[in-house]
Amino acid sequence: MPCGGSGPGPSRCLILLLVRVEVGVLLLVVRRSRGPGHGVTLRLGPHNPSARPVSSTLRLGRPLVKKPTFIVRPPESRSSAGSDRTMRRIDISIPLRPAMAAFPGDPPFTVEPVHSLARGDAYHTSRISLGSHAGTHVDPPLHFLPDGAPTDRLDLEVLNGPCTVLDVDKNHPAIQPTDLGTLPPGAVRVLFRTANSERWVQREEFFSDYVALSLPAAEELLRRGVRLVGIDSLSVESDPTGKFPVHHALLRKGVIILEGLRLQDVPPGAYDLECLPLRLQDGDGGPARAVLRTT
Ligand SMILES: [Zn+2]
Repeated sequence: MPCGGSGPGPSRCLILLLVRVEVGVLLLVVRRSRGPGHGVTLRLGPHNPSARPVSSTLRLGRPLVKKPTFIVRPPESRSSAGSDRTMRRIDISIPLRPAMAAFPGDPPFTVEPVHSLARGDAYHTSRISLGSHAGTHVDPPLHFLPDGAPTDRLDLEVLNGPCTVLDVDKNHPAIQPTDLGTLPPGAVRVLFRTANSERWVQREEFFSDYVALSLPAAEELLRRGVRLVGIDSLSVESDPTGKFPVHHALLRKGVIILEGLRLQDVPPGAYDLECLPLRLQDGDGGPARAVLRTT
């Protein structure tokens, strides 16, 4: 019925006019906010601070095909604010390759092709040969103690977890108790970054005058309850007498030794260590991939 006739009065006419104006404004808003694909993207702010908004697309001319939804992350997957974006991993392992440095007397690392694409085989495989203490590796108690735990029985909870990287004065020929001054109380894992790290950058050859842990420093670490000790040399100690008192002192107490680290790109501080040595059954050592995760 047309407005202004004998049916509806002026007030009803005004209401119809207002309704038309509102519908027109709504359609105008919808058209202007059309996104690609002729849809309308509605970005909804979260009512729950832990909820993440998800875009929902409204197709004109059809019913709402997708309801606005929120993904609520379970509590165990949440980490500290922003850490998903800022956390990163630093590989502190030596790349295993024939040219790498080895401790004197240890078997060299070799690799030879068994199947080769270049020779017409369908795939690549290689035969590798290496010592149990090649490159970055762990020393389990069995390394020096006949009844000590082998590599495959090392506690993974000790090998992985919060860790402190300590910078040792570049002029110190050996790590002394005084170098432990910044080690936080209760530290379980400590990695020493010494002058060795820079020398590895300059030349990838074994050098005998490497910085190592002194026995007094090892005893101080034991007194503090440290359970994993890592260093950027191929041996944690330098002992020309061949008695290896530092290894004995640490391994006798079940401390895991991690040797052959590459720490030149690692600022001192707090990290999470991820270290998984090869599961060598009854192994006296274990080449390992070691990674530091920033916290
Ligand atoms: Zn070793």
